[in-house]
Amino acid sequence: MPAVTPLPPAGLAALLRGAGLRVTATRLAVLAEVTEGEHMTADQVALGVRTGIGTISTQGVYDVLGALARAGLVRRVEPAGSAARYETRVADNHHHVVCRSCGAITDVDCVVGEPPCLSPADAGGFVIDEAEVTFWGLCPACQTPSTSDEKERAR
Ligand SMILES: [Zn+2]
Ligand SMILES: [Zn+2]
Repeated sequence: MPAVTPLPPAGLAALLRGAGLRVTATRLAVLAEVTEGEHMTADQVALGVRTGIGTISTQGVYDVLGALARAGLVRRVEPAGSAARYETRVADNHHHVVCRSCGAITDVDCVVGEPPCLSPADAGGFVIDEAEVTFWGLCPACQTPSTSDEKERAR
């Protein structure tokens, strides 16, 4: 998995400005959380933001995440049956592999290296620029019976 270097706040402010968004403490805090985490849910982002800058409603976090997503700074991923996750790895057409058992999400690079990496047999006249693929399976921890037994015992 590629290491994501956390950006200094100055870099985050520049990102917001570059996307035409006003720089606010809340937007900076939300963007910092999403940058540092991997595929975080809005609840996880809200938790982190609250520890950083104090009270913010979950709806407030959703509003900021929505604005950041519309500006193209964060990507929203929503695997079936799971809460929406947010990430700052955008515009590279990467995909996700999701564990059926524990819900862990990992990035998978574009299948042939450039988007869209899948071509439908018949695009119905559409010009396709992105393919969003979710691979489903079992993560390494969930494949090992002894490991999941230990998890059960730890509960
Ligand atoms: Zn798993
Ligand atoms: Zn991702």
